[in-house]
Amino acid sequence: MNELNVILAQPRGFCAGVERAIEIVERAIEKFGPPIYVRHEIVHNKYVVNNLRKKGAIFVEEIDAIPEGSRTIFSAHGVSDQVEENAAKRNLPVIDATCPLVTKVHLQAKKQEEHDHQIIIIGHKGHPEVEGTSGKIKQEAIIISEPDEVMHLNVKNPDKLSYVTQTTLSVDETKKVIDALKNKFPNINGPDVKDICYATQNRQNAVKQLAKQVDLIIVIGAKNSSNSNRLRDLGEELGVESYLVDDYQSINLDWFKNKVNVGVTAGASAPEILIDQVIEFLEKNFIIHLKSSNGIIENIKFKLPKELRD
Ligand code: SF4
Repeated sequence: MNELNVILAQPRGFCAGVERAIEIVERAIEKFGPPIYVRHEIVHNKYVVNNLRKKGAIFVEEIDAIPEGSRTIFSAHGVSDQVEENAAKRNLPVIDATCPLVTKVHLQAKKQEEHDHQIIIIGHKGHPEVEGTSGKIKQEAIIISEPDEVMHLNVKNPDKLSYVTQTTLSVDETKKVIDALKNKFPNINGPDVKDICYATQNRQNAVKQLAKQVDLIIVIGAKNSSNSNRLRDLGEELGVESYLVDDYQSINLDWFKNKVNVGVTAGASAPEILIDQVIEFLEKNFIIHLKSSNGIIENIKFKLPKELRD
């Protein structure tokens, strides 16, 4: 059997927003009994969603699919005003699991709109968080994700312009977009890269550290998880072969040919059990020497909504 040095990224996996969202669904099921309806995957991870489904959660994409009056949870990604209005029309008692850091971005966008600013959202079109943020303001926001797009932007008044960002982007790429915006519109308002949440930043920093030490990076996370995709992209950009896998079953042993040092990390919505299973899988196929990197230990916890607190 070949030997493998395996380094676990620190931090990795669940963030405070994901832990809170999952706890909200679990507590709601305990307190009110099943079924509890959840609009959209509560977090982007099939394992998490299937587990909650077994406990009594029903996941739907549209509010219309929820029976009148049924208890409903909005996912961690946030929702538009329109979704809130539709829920109110159907008399749905709603518990909001929107991550507080996403809510912060909503509030910033609304506040700038109150000052008559045109809003640019730096983020990925079609991602539920971006749809939620753009649906929190009255105007149609401009959505961009690449520095090149800035060149072609036409705005109403460059002195009344603000941007906000999706919370799960690449820190480095977003900085380039912000620099391009500031270059073209020197009076634009916006929060540096601070809207990118602490968990996204910390996990990307951990991959930067890993990339100096390994020749292969495995990122555990769902294909539709923005922050997990950014971890894989970052590994590749730093010159390390990197793969995004749902779980150990998606790992291809060919990836390990001629590799000695392997890094393992996980996106903010991937549970630790999936990492444990990957390590078990590696142990079955290699003699592994496991260690954790020296990254920061996070101890952030967000409050639960009032109706679910002890
Ligand atoms: S990744 Fe950040 S913004 Fe998204 S749920 Fe986690 S803490 Fe909140």
